[in-house]
Amino acid sequence: MPVHGFHTRTASHREIVDITNRVQQAVGEANCAEGLVCVTASHCTCTVYVNENESSLVADTLELISKLTSDRSWRHDRIDDNAAAHLAASVLGNSVCLPISGGQIELGTWQRIMLVELDGPRDRRVTVTVIPG
Ligand code: ZN
Repeated sequence: MPVHGFHTRTASHREIVDITNRVQQAVGEANCAEGLVCVTASHCTCTVYVNENESSLVADTLELISKLTSDRSWRHDRIDDNAAAHLAASVLGNSVCLPISGGQIELGTWQRIMLVELDGPRDRRVTVTVIPG
C-alpha cells in the first residue's frame, strides 16, 4: 500500500488551506489508475475535509468552528491551552477517503480537499495513502 505525503507550513492560528493539488500530485507519484486515496492530517489539532473553496464559505467554516468551541473554559486548557483546537479536530475528523479513477481523484465540480489549521502556525504533515483496486 503506497504511502506518500507532504509537509506544509501554515501561516495563521486558524486557517483553511486548499491541498487538492498536492494530494493529486501524491496520487500521481503512486502511479495508481483506479483505487482509493486516504488523506490524513497526522496531528491532533489539524484536520481535513472536502467542500467548496469559496472565500465566504471558508470564513463561515472558521466562524462555525469558533462558535462551537470558544468562550468556554475547557479542562485541557490547563495542560496546554489548546482544547478548542483538539475539540474542533475531533468533530471534523482527521481524514477523508476518496475514489481514484483514471489516475485522478474523483471530486465533484466544486469539491476541494481542505486542510484546517486549528492551532498554528505550525509545520503539518499530510499522509496520503493510495490503495489500488
Ligand atoms: Zn493540547
